[in-house]
Amino acid sequence: ITDKIAALADDTPFFSLEFFPPKTAAGLSNLQARLARMSQALRPLFVNITWGAGGSTSSKSLELAEFTQQQLGLTTCLHLTCTNMSQRLIDEALSRAKTLGIRNILALRGDPPRNAEYGDPNEGAQQQFVWAVDLVKYIREQYGDYFCIGVAAYPDGHADTSHPERQDAEFDLPYLVEKTKAGADFIMTQLFFDVEAYRKFEAMLRGDESGVFKGIPIIPGLMPIQSYQVVRRVAKLSHAKVPAELMTRLDAVKSDDEEVKKVGVDILSEIIEGLKKMGTPGKQGFHFYTLNLEKAVSQIVERNHLIKELTVEDLPSEVIVSPSSTL
Ligand code: FAD
Repeated sequence: ITDKIAALADDTPFFSLEFFPPKTAAGLSNLQARLARMSQALRPLFVNITWGAGGSTSSKSLELAEFTQQQLGLTTCLHLTCTNMSQRLIDEALSRAKTLGIRNILALRGDPPRNAEYGDPNEGAQQQFVWAVDLVKYIREQYGDYFCIGVAAYPDGHADTSHPERQDAEFDLPYLVEKTKAGADFIMTQLFFDVEAYRKFEAMLRGDESGVFKGIPIIPGLMPIQSYQVVRRVAKLSHAKVPAELMTRLDAVKSDDEEVKKVGVDILSEIIEGLKKMGTPGKQGFHFYTLNLEKAVSQIVERNHLIKELTVEDLPSEVIVSPSSTL
């Protein structure tokens, strides 16, 4: 991923799309057809495949990642969590990813098991992996530079004192420094709707005196708005604040699904415009949490001119005719 970003011309924006593995065979085959359409029409720089905490989707995630990497030829970033997972499962996932030709891992902690949330982090044999940094170190120890490693970050904090974990960009900063020093190559953020919160977050990282974030791609996470209920639920789960002005616009159309989608595309386009205006140094990327849906994200990347022009590399090899064969 970082090689592909570095190879882009300076003012070329890029984007990535995230998918989760469906539960059923029918769901998988629907998604495969959708992915084939989307990869051809939208040409994302890379795609992400999520991993169920504790390894709950391990075989399905790997199957989907195999499809995107090998069948569709898309640069694939496999998510991998480490807490509440056996080392055997981590080893198997990394080894399988390598066999499939996958070069990118998003190294995550995953949601902690209930007992750890309430203060027993040392229970169980697999407590070699408590935080995401443990996984970053492990991948570097086992695989050297083979994998390009991404880590997660959270631009929006929350003041929910009943929540077992604090989420606060300043509180997280030393741990993000630690993860990056341990070998992370890029940072991908939790979804957010508040451009100002993101601006502050990015400025904090770029201004960090450790200098560790210099030249590291920071990719903002955005969620296309597919429905009123989903945006409310996801914003609550991810602690992403929806600014009052945006919520008022969504409230005004909440009984009309089509209007919510239209307003959602407008809102996401304004967020992208706001991020572009920040004039982030380096190549500017956008990561979309698609929720496996096609329409809204397609409209957003088209409207915001994020689709890169077709180049010879994008064409299937059988249609590239060498000069000698045309004679
Ligand atoms: P960490 O970096 O370990 O941080 C977790 C918390 O612990 C932070 O609050 C941090 O400040 C604190 N912390 C870190 N180190 C220490 C320390 N040494 N001492 C004390 N506190 C510390 N989850 C999934 O299950 N599957 C997915 O596919 C998935 N994909 C994601 C993709 C993105 C882009 C993002 C942003 C999140 C994703 N998640 C996924 C969610 C993620 O697993 C959870 O948010 C998880 O609770 C934290 O993971 P982390 O990697 O940020 O953890």
